[in-house]
Amino acid sequence: AQQLVKIYQNGSEELKVLDDVSLQVFKGDFMAILGPSGSGKSTLMNILGCLDLPSSGQYSLDGLDVLKASENELAEIRNIKIGFIFQKFNLLPRLTAVQNVMLPLLYRGVKEEEALGLAREKLTLLGLEARLHHRPNELSGGQQQRVAIARAIIGNPQLLLADEPTGNLDSKSSEDAMRIFKELNAQGNTILIITHDTEVAEQVDKIVYIRDGKIYENH
Ligand code: ATP
Ligand code: MG
Repeated sequence: AQQLVKIYQNGSEELKVLDDVSLQVFKGDFMAILGPSGSGKSTLMNILGCLDLPSSGQYSLDGLDVLKASENELAEIRNIKIGFIFQKFNLLPRLTAVQNVMLPLLYRGVKEEEALGLAREKLTLLGLEARLHHRPNELSGGQQQRVAIARAIIGNPQLLLADEPTGNLDSKSSEDAMRIFKELNAQGNTILIITHDTEVAEQVDKIVYIRDGKIYENH
């Protein structure tokens, strides 16, 4: 990403949330982004995940110029290449835990029965074997977050974008999640975690700080 600027327009007021952000992430990186509330972390993640566009700047992902890409190319990136863990989970409310987790596999053309088995396995790894058929509103915040983690990683995404993935977890679940992220990384996948959690930040290979929409790499 080169010189990203993001300006939100609220009526006549302009809010510059990303101010000349340049960031290089390499294949296989295990990186964390740290910064205070409101500093632009989720905004940056949305742009890196091709869910939103910058107001100006350049961004290329795996050789593709994202600002010039077609909607089909972007949909393929979002559905196949990237796994998202959203700060607010974004689970589909009408689907059960296991159905939410199956979705990325169904996008990849995996047969329903196989997807169900794999989803069940991942949820069990995350301690949710007794909650497979609950809907999100029947789950606690930490349980919903674990469903979101399972959904994000089940398709073995080349890039995992995780926005405060351990924010609602107890220390055991948080360790389980970090173990899963490390396994994904060990297979060569790239992991980018937004976090306030110092125990998470201690385990990554690279830390980038963001403050007032600006990036600081080395302190
Ligand atoms: P937190 O740690 O609290 O999640 P963050 O670093 O993720 O914060 P962002 O969600 O990126 O911060 O928000 C950065 C700023 O942009 C905030 O001041 C926020 O109010 C503002 N903002 C975010 N989304 C929008 C939007 N869609 N329209 C207008 N302003 C927005
Ligand atoms: Mg945020």
